[in-house]
Order: sequence, then C-alpha cells, then structure tokens
Amino acid sequence: MPIHVTEGATVLLPAVQRDDFSAPFFDAAAQGILLVRRCENGHFLAPSSGSSHGNSLRCHECQSGRVDWHPASGMATLVSWIVLHPRDGGGETRRAGLVELEEGPWMYALLDVPSDLELRVGLALRVGFVPTDGGETIPSFGPA
Ligand SMILES: [Zn+2]
Repeated sequence: MPIHVTEGATVLLPAVQRDDFSAPFFDAAAQGILLVRRCENGHFLAPSSGSSHGNSLRCHECQSGRVDWHPASGMATLVSWIVLHPRDGGGETRRAGLVELEEGPWMYALLDVPSDLELRVGLALRVGFVPTDGGETIPSFGPA
C-alpha cells in the first residue's frame, strides 16, 4: 500500500551531495553503472547507507573495515514505495521506493514507472539513471 506524502517528501530520498566517499558512486552512475559496497568477506552493504561518518564504513555483518565499491547487476525488486505530490499542487506526481538489490542490500531510489502501472511488492525492476538539477546522476528504477 503506497503512502501518500505531500510535505517534506524529499527528506526520504538520499541527499545528492558528492564528497570524497561518494565520488566513486557518482562517477560510476554517470557511466550507467550502479555501485554497491562489498566487504572483503563478500557481504554487500547498501549504497544509500554510504556516509563518511560513523560505523557505516564497516561491514554490518562481520565488522570488517575493508570495504570497496563493487558493480551491482542493476536488478532489484520493489519492497515499498511512496507517491510524491508537488507542493504547489501542480505538475506531475513522482514515485520513489525502497528496492531490494539482487545482491541483497536495500536502497531508496526514484521509480521511473508509467503512471498507469500498478506497483506491487516484489515487482521486478532494473536500474536506470537520471540527471539531477545539481549535475549528479542518480539511480532510478523502472520495470525490468
Ligand atoms: Zn562483511
């Protein structure tokens, strides 16, 4: 069941602010490649948990600090979603969701789906990429 949000919706999306930590992610996204972080023991970490602060630099499963970026398949399934309504009441609604990557991690992302497509949990998705106003490219998932 979608949650309709009219105010403050953008806070649910990951901030698009490049820093030294996230630079590889955005550089790859600009080339159409989704990167996820993987520890030396093969555990995948969610890309949206990326932060240069705190314990997210360590693997949540084995606590290894040896974590590198790794190309993801780009395939995912839909876990949940929200409908973003323009604050001024005009324009088009957009949808964003929580997706489970084929590798296991969950991430928030925009959904690029036809407005008449009925979303459902488990819907097969494939990553695409869209430019943002700030010049970065971010993942956007559409039907597989
Ligand atoms: Zn690990």
